[in-house]
Parts: sequence; structure tokens; C-alpha cells
Amino acid sequence: MKIICIGRNYAEHAKELGNAVPTEPVFFCKPDSAILPKGNPFYIPDWTDDIHYEVELVLRIDRLGKHITEEFAPRYYGAVGLGIDFTARDVQDELKKKGLPWEKAKGFDGSAVISQEFIPIESLPNEAIAFSLYKNGEQVQAATSADMIFNFNQIVSHVSRYMTLKIGDLIFTGTPSGVGKVSPGDVLTGTLEGKQMFQIKVK
Ligand code: ZN
Repeated sequence: MKIICIGRNYAEHAKELGNAVPTEPVFFCKPDSAILPKGNPFYIPDWTDDIHYEVELVLRIDRLGKHITEEFAPRYYGAVGLGIDFTARDVQDELKKKGLPWEKAKGFDGSAVISQEFIPIESLPNEAIAFSLYKNGEQVQAATSADMIFNFNQIVSHVSRYMTLKIGDLIFTGTPSGVGKVSPGDVLTGTLEGKQMFQIKVK
């Protein structure tokens, strides 16, 4: 399976990082080795001083497809989970400056938190799926899917023009504003429609 991540999909987040709002989806991949095993704490790697959390809605692909139109895109995903796209912001900034790929900053071990549970799309609100992230009990990010620049169908359609989507592939759909640094001892809790989806200890 592969993990595809959409960048800059919320206007306020693009602004907070000083990026232009994109005219088509920006995406990159994480390897499957990036998945943080269930129940494990997140260990800050020794090569970075600036790990940021990015909470994101995660789509699970459950039908193989390519060149999927927006109209038919809903047939290709059936459930939504919640994840964190951990990012070494210091490393990413250096790579960006040099025009280099982001994998070191985005694809390292443990950088993909994915909820165990995925909620069937039909039991979620159509237009605005609410999600949030708490750091040590304080809300740091909150948004709904209605705030996305590119919606689920546009994302699935766009990505599938470049990469065949396979059953089990996951798409991180971008993070809203409020990203920030984690420190050892922090506890990150993610909620989807008010339901706790994960709790991660940072070490
Ligand atoms: Zn992200």
C-alpha cells in the first residue's frame, strides 16, 4: 500500500507557512514504514529540532482505479480516519529552499499516525466532517472538511491521473492552520466528529 499526502489544502494553513494557495492539489508520498505502530509512542528523531504535528482526515481507498472522474470518485473510498502527518519543519524548510524533495522531512519512521478505526462515509455528515487535535488537553487545530480547498472527490480524481489507486491505499487530505512543535512529554489527542480516534505520547 502507499500513503499519499495532500499539501496546502487549507487556505489558512498555506498562509501560516507563507505558501501560495495552490491552483491544483499538491501531493507527496510517505512509505509504509512511516506508519507509527499501534500503541507506540512517537520518538522525536535525533536529526531534527522542530517536529510539527499536522492533523488530517485520511481517506481509505477500497477499489482499484485510475483516471477516476470526480463524479465517480465516491465509489473509490468508503471510510474516513484521522491521522497526523508529522513533519520535520526545519529539515523541510532547508529542502524547500534548495528545491529538493521532502521525503526526509515527511517520510521518516513514525511520521504517519493513522487511527485504528475508520468511520464509514455514510455515517458522517455529507458536507462538513469536523475534526480536531488537542495537545496536552488544549485544542490546537480544529476544522471541517468544508474548509478544504480541494474536496475528497477532486483529490481522488487528481491523484489517480498520475498514480493508480489500489485497495488499502491511504490519502492524507491536508492539514488546517494551527500546526506547531511537539516536545517530549506532549500528548496528542485527535477527534473526529467528537469521537477520540487516537492518543499519542511524544518521547
Ligand atoms: Zn500534511
